Amino acid sequence: MTTDIFAPRFQDEDKAREHLEALRWPEGPFCPHCGSMNATRLEGKKHRKGLVQCNDCREQFTVTVGTLFERSKVPLHKWLLVNHLLCASKKGVSAHQIHRMIGVTYKTAWFMCHRIRESMNQPTGPLGGEPSRIVEADETWVGGSVQNRANKQAAPKKIVVTLVERGGHARSFHVANVHANTLRPLLFQHADRLSTLMTDQSASYTTAGRGFWQHKTVSHKFAEYARGQWHTNTAENFFSIFKRGVIGTYHHLSAAHLHRYCAEFDFRYNTRTDTDAERADQALRGIYGKRLTYRRPSSLAS
Ligand SMILES: [Zn+2]
Repeated sequence: MTTDIFAPRFQDEDKAREHLEALRWPEGPFCPHCGSMNATRLEGKKHRKGLVQCNDCREQFTVTVGTLFERSKVPLHKWLLVNHLLCASKKGVSAHQIHRMIGVTYKTAWFMCHRIRESMNQPTGPLGGEPSRIVEADETWVGGSVQNRANKQAAPKKIVVTLVERGGHARSFHVANVHANTLRPLLFQHADRLSTLMTDQSASYTTAGRGFWQHKTVSHKFAEYARGQWHTNTAENFFSIFKRGVIGTYHHLSAAHLHRYCAEFDFRYNTRTDTDAERADQALRGIYGKRLTYRRPSSLAS
C-alpha cells in the first residue's frame, strides 16, 4: 500500500470510501441499525455513492453511519488525508497547517483534528500485570502561554500525568493537581497492582505505592536519574515528545481539550512500532461508535 499523500485514497473520494469499507466491512457490508449482514448495495445514479440497503430492517446506510465522520460535508479523501498527516507526524499538525494544506476553513480543520483525536482515544487494558513489569508514573507542566490573545491574561500551565509501562503503552491525563487523592485513583484504575510502580520521591505517590507489588522511587533532587533500572526515563522520554509537540505545533492548549491532545500523543506512542499506514488505519478503526458532544467553543485558540 502506498503511504505517500498522493496515494489514491487521499485524492479520490470513491477510493477513500473503498478503503474505509475494506477496514470496516472485511466480510461485506453489515447494517449498523440491526446488525444484519443481508444487505444490498444501491447502485446507479439515483443513489448517493456508497449507499447500502438492509434487506432485513430496510434501513439505508453508508460506511460512515455511526462514526465521527457522519454528516460531515468534508469529502472522505480529505478526512483520510488529515488522519494520515496526524498519524504520521511525531509532533502533531496544527489546525492552521491543515487549513492551509488541504483547503478547508480553519474552523473545519480544527473540528476535523479534534474528531481524529477522539478516534485515537483507544484505551488498552491495565498497564503492567506482574512484578517484573515496571510502570513509571510522572507529571509534567504543559501549554502555558505568556498571553492569551482573547483576554490578555497569562494562560496558566496545565498538569499532565503519564503512566507508562516500559516496553508497553502510555496513558496520559490532564489533572487539576498532583495531590495523592488525585493520583491514587488514576494509578489504581489504569495500572495493575501486581506491577512494580516507579516514581520520583514525591509524597503524592507514597500511599498509592503501597497498593502495588513494590514501589521504587528515584530522587530528582540529587540528579540520581538512573540507579540501574530504577529510573523514570521512559516517562521523561514520553514527555519530551509531548512537549516538543506542544511547543512546536500546538502552542497554547486549552484545558477543555487537553484530554484529546493526551489521547493523540498516547496513541502515536502506543503504535510507535507500526508503519504510518498501519497507524493511520488503526486510528480509522476508532471512528466507530463515537460522537463528539462538546459545543462549538467561542474561541478556537487551540
Ligand atoms: Zn438492518
